[in-house]
Amino acid sequence: MASEFEIIARYFTRPTTHTTLGVGDDGALIAPTPGQEMVISTDLLVEGTHFLADTDAEALGWKTLAVNISDLAAMGAQPRWALLAAVLPAPTSDWIEAFARGFFECANRYDIDLIGGDTTLGPRAFCVTILGEAPAGTALRRNGAQAGDSIWVSGWPGRAALGLAHLQGRTVLTEPLQGACLSALHRPQPRVELGLALRGIASAAIDVSDGLLADLGHILEQSTCAARLQIPGLPPAGLERDCLLAGGDDYELLFTAATSHDKEVAAIGNRLRLPLTRIGQITSGAPGELVVCDDGGSVITPEHRGFDHFE
Ligand code: ADP
Ligand code: MG
Repeated sequence: MASEFEIIARYFTRPTTHTTLGVGDDGALIAPTPGQEMVISTDLLVEGTHFLADTDAEALGWKTLAVNISDLAAMGAQPRWALLAAVLPAPTSDWIEAFARGFFECANRYDIDLIGGDTTLGPRAFCVTILGEAPAGTALRRNGAQAGDSIWVSGWPGRAALGLAHLQGRTVLTEPLQGACLSALHRPQPRVELGLALRGIASAAIDVSDGLLADLGHILEQSTCAARLQIPGLPPAGLERDCLLAGGDDYELLFTAATSHDKEVAAIGNRLRLPLTRIGQITSGAPGELVVCDDGGSVITPEHRGFDHFE
């Protein structure tokens, strides 16, 4: 087993592209771009809670960074730097090597410098702190939705939860859906380019980590407004519908925008080759009220809204 120092040097030290001083000193030095605000977020991944003990190490490395990038995507920020605190149980070199490979593959894809962290022995868990930038005053927030705004979601919400259901034997997916769902679960693609494109267009945004309804609920709470959802092609009651409405781990962007921007939003989807689906409208109903309709417009009552660690 390698020492803490060897692990850091061998697996977590890489050349940086936009950092004054990275891994190795007591602190990192970065030079924020003048005129930009720093956007900062942190997320924990704990074995047994966020990932299964037998999860592929390389996929986990990717996901550990990707879920953090997703938070900055939802803020409309450009992610630039990350710190990684790792708790490892008697780590084997193979496992860490694969984890680091996935982590840096994601870092390279999104041009992020790993600039520091901490490494210690214990039950497996990872905490990433991510830093990014957005021109002052332009970051997207959860609190700007207005009655009349369209509600949009990117990509294919529900796939990650379906992939998990497949792994847990609660359903059997066939190809090509199986591959798409497992890839959504293991290799989420944070929607950074979409977040950047939505600056000045979206009135509120959040990334879907707890479930579509739960995360829309956060926007409604913080914007003190209500919503009516009518999702095109909503599946009939059952697992697939539950995964779509209340399945977490998608890391798609859920956002609102004035209807005057409908065409612009559609054009962004075309440019990014990413489906952007209009799934409803913000209404002037009681704050927090969420009416969900099926494809035909009849009101339905979903069983769950999403994931809450303390429920
Ligand atoms: P200190 O004793 O000052 O806390 P450490 O020995 O924990 O320093 O870390 C040495 C250097 O390695 C620091 O620059 C720290 O930021 C970095 N580092 C530690 N663990 C990691 C990690 N998992 N990923 C990236 N950098 C790390
Ligand atoms: Mg330390």
